[in-house]
Amino acid sequence: MTTDTLQTGSVAANKLAKRLRRLTGQAIGDYQMIEDGDRVLVCLSGGKDSYTMLDMLLYLQKKAPISFEITALNLDQKQPGFPEHVLPEYLAGLGVDYRILERDTYSVVRDKIPEGKTMCGLCSRLRRGILYRYANEHGYTKIALGHHRDDIVETLFLNLFHGGRLAAMPPKLRSDDGANVVIRPLAYCSERDIEKWATLQDYPIIPCNLCGSQENLQRQNIKQMLTEWERASPGRTETMFRAICNVQPSQLADVNLFDFVGLVAGDTASAANQPDEPSRQKTSTSPLYFHPRQGSGTA
Ligand code: SF4
Repeated sequence: MTTDTLQTGSVAANKLAKRLRRLTGQAIGDYQMIEDGDRVLVCLSGGKDSYTMLDMLLYLQKKAPISFEITALNLDQKQPGFPEHVLPEYLAGLGVDYRILERDTYSVVRDKIPEGKTMCGLCSRLRRGILYRYANEHGYTKIALGHHRDDIVETLFLNLFHGGRLAAMPPKLRSDDGANVVIRPLAYCSERDIEKWATLQDYPIIPCNLCGSQENLQRQNIKQMLTEWERASPGRTETMFRAICNVQPSQLADVNLFDFVGLVAGDTASAANQPDEPSRQKTSTSPLYFHPRQGSGTA
């Protein structure tokens, strides 16, 4: 099945919709991303991922037995050629509450980063700071970002190959200053599905490279590596993502995570001898989790 063959209303398109909705609901449930009364700030860049995230959240908002608010937010960073009308028109058409923030981070980044160097690191840091501050000042309880499963696996390898750390990108996290909770509702969704969905929906995509910056080369290399692995062994990315959700500290070597020092023979009561506890519930109990048998369907 290719993107080109998907037609709105076809069996394949319906299956895709159900799969994306089910996986989004499941991720939200597994990590308790959204609770009753939450005010969710949905960050919209104009890329395929954030459009899909907004779509999924609006769908779940209608179906969920809890009540939460959604506000879509776009940060206009003043890149040359940014089509300012696209997102307001799209969001007004949806009838969703939205805000457009205008901050000229583009000039700041151009000023600070030498010609030819990648600007994405500083650009993202500035963007994050602005979004966090806005959420704080306006009483939003959650900030939703559109990263998906493949972004998470890529980040794992970036940290492994270049950072000397076994760390990825969590589906839910508290910001460093403790003031915000960031959620990634598409954490279980594959980029391939999102791409197909975005094509099917014909979203008015705004490219992220209007600024002229090349995307981080290391991430591009890892993306290519993962794509090749997936082609040679279909399902490998999903297996690696499952590994991120199934960590066994006693089978690694971090003395801060497991009491190797206290490990002695014969002491079965010792914490060091206990099998690793699962880090999270395997089955969600959240009302936002739609089990396939409850009518959300499978794919
Ligand atoms: S491509 Fe441009 S706008 Fe996008 S993150 Fe990088 S510097 Fe920022």
